[in-house]
Amino acid sequence: MSHIFPRHTRQAPPVAVSGEGCYLFDASGKQYLDASGGAAVSCLGHNNAIVVDAIKAQLDKVAFAHTGFFTSEPAEALADLLISNAPGDLDRVYLVSGGSEATEAAIKLARQYWVEKGEPKRGKIIARKQSYHGNTIGALSAGGNEWRRAQFGPLLLDVSHIDPCYEYRLKRDDETPEEYGLRAAQALEDEILRLGPDTVMAFMAEPVVGATAGALAPAPGYFKRIREICDKYGVLLILDEVMCGMGRTGSLFACEQDGIAPDIACIAKGLGAGYQPIGAMLCTSQIYETIEQGSGFFQHGHTYIGHPTAAACGHAVVSEIINRDLVSRVRKQGDALSERLASRFGQHPHVGDLRGRGLFRGVELVAGRDSKEPFDPSRGVAAKIKKAAFAEGLICYPMSGTIDGQRGDHILLAPPFIIEDEQLDELVEKLETAISAVI
Ligand code: PMP
Repeated sequence: MSHIFPRHTRQAPPVAVSGEGCYLFDASGKQYLDASGGAAVSCLGHNNAIVVDAIKAQLDKVAFAHTGFFTSEPAEALADLLISNAPGDLDRVYLVSGGSEATEAAIKLARQYWVEKGEPKRGKIIARKQSYHGNTIGALSAGGNEWRRAQFGPLLLDVSHIDPCYEYRLKRDDETPEEYGLRAAQALEDEILRLGPDTVMAFMAEPVVGATAGALAPAPGYFKRIREICDKYGVLLILDEVMCGMGRTGSLFACEQDGIAPDIACIAKGLGAGYQPIGAMLCTSQIYETIEQGSGFFQHGHTYIGHPTAAACGHAVVSEIINRDLVSRVRKQGDALSERLASRFGQHPHVGDLRGRGLFRGVELVAGRDSKEPFDPSRGVAAKIKKAAFAEGLICYPMSGTIDGQRGDHILLAPPFIIEDEQLDELVEKLETAISAVI
């Protein structure tokens, strides 16, 4: 009997025993095409020798040294590499163990910044419906996914959730995408004014929404306007690039494509590419210096922040992405995937929307193409497709999102950046088989 506490207590998962490139293998020898990297993690594929060697080399030097006493060479090198490739004024890096730790740290840093700046009234966060920022209490509070939040209501912080930027469902027919982008961004200004500008500390959003919406990219101009609104009222902009960052959308930071930079950025997943648990929060020198010249101490921390072995891994991963120019490859293979999805599902009666950027692609499933009516949630379409695809030897990430109580099903695809054309064919083929088996 297994003593592992699995995600689904009534389903024993197969045992993963090895991985190579875009494939994972279980104990029975079955092969799976990893088309979602679990949840957009395995950007370099499995068994990358350079990353494995970098981790081994660090283990031979020093596996761990607590940041209460030391910094380390790999942590310094990773921070330098990230900052020299980061947009805007991002200048300091706080290394953590994953995405939720990065977003929690961002929330606490934003709050401490305002306290140290002498504006302690600023304690409110605005985020968006249909978003995910992690599963710890602060991060879950910021997230707007009703299904994940439902039973934890009494524990959550009071966060305002404005509508997401969701062209497929919320753009009016009489609007251009640009007009819609401005209208969607206006919701932020309206909410800041409703709450009182001097009470709002930060706005948090994913540049391209992942887990809860299936690679939902913003309308043109949306984030430019969001940046202007944040600047107008002095509200900090926290961008959660945990899923969409580190090259996934075709630029190292997803927000580069929207022509903006945040005050605080959160990254994880692709930063360690699955070889080590690592995440990071990046902030501007202005925020850092406020703390430095104030208390001089960020009132936060975990045992494993700045973990040298994880940092050596992160450094090797980001170096691979940069040295092999994998972001260009992401754009090329992303276009190739997008074309294949369009030709296979463009007219599919149950595919309402195909979207995304780079190798971050979403398929929104609907009961009817014209009505855009979602499937009845009781049918559990997303969960069934996940199961059917897995049986076919395809790992993809189907999920249900919720907006205003209405659930919708989508499939998220986030294959490794090294994926070849034949594997894209295999992906689309198996995905169609899985979808046809369910709807
Ligand atoms: N933010 C985003 C955008 C995410 O997609 C996730 C994970 N799906 C998280 C935060 C939380 O990351 P982790 O699971 O590593 O805590």
